[in-house]
Amino acid sequence: MHPLKGKKQSPEHIAKRVASAAGKPRKPGAGKPANTPEVLWSKVEKRGSDECWPWRGFRNKQGYGRTWINDTGYYAHRIIFDLANPGIIPLSNHERTVCVMHTCDNPPCCNPAHLKLGTHQDNMDDKVSKGRQARFGSVNSPRAKLTAEDVAWIRIQNNYATKRALALLHDVSEATISGCLYGRYYQDIP
Ligand SMILES: [Zn+2]
Repeated sequence: MHPLKGKKQSPEHIAKRVASAAGKPRKPGAGKPANTPEVLWSKVEKRGSDECWPWRGFRNKQGYGRTWINDTGYYAHRIIFDLANPGIIPLSNHERTVCVMHTCDNPPCCNPAHLKLGTHQDNMDDKVSKGRQARFGSVNSPRAKLTAEDVAWIRIQNNYATKRALALLHDVSEATISGCLYGRYYQDIP
């Protein structure tokens, strides 16, 4: 049975979960119009059940869909997973014990059939193993200064450290750090 069949979400469902995750009650009418489940689903281009369903809203530099609910940003595929499978994962970005991973390796995809749960370690292993597929300008290039693991780490550390600090830490130039963050280099690492 298709995961979406027979599931009808009330607009209160997601608002309630997000409000409790943020630890504050939702202010009615505050900010932008509410991203109800209907609005969120309308940003997903639904195709065949086996095909990828791209997110048509905002995407970050890595290609992942991003959306906002009550002024908090979330990954679109995480929100869509929650709408399709209510109550399984914590939505808060601070509770990343459970990762929603793509079986199709396509960052904007929001087809619930292509999303699976994994631990943070699974997610890192996945990224590193995919980084081993050689391509020009990749970690397998003889000129590569960073390993797949370094690149995955830098992308996480970028949330907490400046590019200058990351460059010092990994003994490379700030340009190399920018390249691996913004996809000019090491594009084989998702
Ligand atoms: Zn997909």
